Amino acid sequence: MTKITQYIEEAKGKTLFSFEIIPPVKGESIHTLMNNLEPLMEFNPPFVEVTYHREEFIEKIINGRIERIPTRKRPGTVGICASLINRFKVDAVPHVICGGFTKEETEDFLFDLHYLGIDNVLVLRGDPVKGNPAFIPEKGGHAYASELLQQVVRMNEGKLLHDETESSPTNFCIGVAGYPEKHFEAPNFQVDFDYLKKKVALGANYIVTQMFFDNQKYLDFVAKCRAEGILVPIIPGLKPLATKKQLTVLPRVFHLDIPQDLVEAVNACHNDKDVKQVGIEWCIQQCKELMALGAPVLHFYTMSKSESTKKIAQAIF
Ligand SMILES: Cc1cc2nc3c(=O)[nH]c(=O)nc-3n(C[C@H](O)[C@H](O)[C@H](O)COP(=O)(O)OP(=O)(O)OC[C@H]3O[C@@H](n4cnc5c(N)ncnc54)[C@H](O)[C@@H]3O)c2cc1C
Repeated sequence: MTKITQYIEEAKGKTLFSFEIIPPVKGESIHTLMNNLEPLMEFNPPFVEVTYHREEFIEKIINGRIERIPTRKRPGTVGICASLINRFKVDAVPHVICGGFTKEETEDFLFDLHYLGIDNVLVLRGDPVKGNPAFIPEKGGHAYASELLQQVVRMNEGKLLHDETESSPTNFCIGVAGYPEKHFEAPNFQVDFDYLKKKVALGANYIVTQMFFDNQKYLDFVAKCRAEGILVPIIPGLKPLATKKQLTVLPRVFHLDIPQDLVEAVNACHNDKDVKQVGIEWCIQQCKELMALGAPVLHFYTMSKSESTKKIAQAIF
């Protein structure tokens, strides 16, 4: 499979199109997901990213006692990657997370990806367990994305966790997350930025940003990266607003600012159909500007829905 960095190099400055999907809720049909994606394939995404969702806990009364039962609401990341590769001949990029995995399980997981011919991964710490305010690392697992990244780098060098003998090396191109508006846990922007620098120094090949609605945040972030020696591609993450509720939900969940002009335009809408249109138009403007400024890829957080992203892609590609 082609590496993300190679796609970007071969595009020679032309902006590429890509998007992220989430696995369906357990029990829902994969066909619905695939049919939802199909309209985006005409824009030739070189790759599609697939999120990974850690287990959650439900409480059940068993023999008169309350028991916490682990259940995964959105399983299937690897299966969906395989399905995307088969059906659309597109490169699939699974997200690999620390949460809920021991290092040994991570090693086995990475072998599954390697055997499938998957050569790109986005390594992340992962979200906390639902309902927990803080991320708690798995016993015997990784606490930070940088630790997981080092494990992938070592596998690329043919080194396994416990084996004395050399392993056949994997060939992963490694992406990491970057936060133009700071990761919410970091005490300040510089602290977070220094950890990003560390991830790149340890071998990250590209960065995908958290979503932003103000291009200046991305541009300042890229300028700071370049000034401080982070030279890998920085892929902007974009999300068209679709509902009025998102004005409060997105800042709460993703810790970002929504520009005043966009807030006013959304508040002037009478219903979410109009909000969707405002969100599409805002995102088209963002995309046009980012393309003109040489963004390597425009990467859309679709939540596995294609309608708004398709309209944006039609307007810009
Ligand atoms: C593009 C993108 C895709 C995502 N996909 C998923 C997904 O599929 N599944 C999912 O569960 N979540 C996903 N997330 C959410 C992500 O897991 C959370 O934002 C998580 O809280 C942080 O992940 P990270 O990889 O940035 O963590 P890290 O880089 O480990 O950073 C986490 C926090 O710790 C700090 N930090 C880093 N290293 C150290 C250190 N050595 N010592 C002390 N502090 C440190 C950082 O400043 C930051 O505040 C995604 C986020 C983005 C931006």
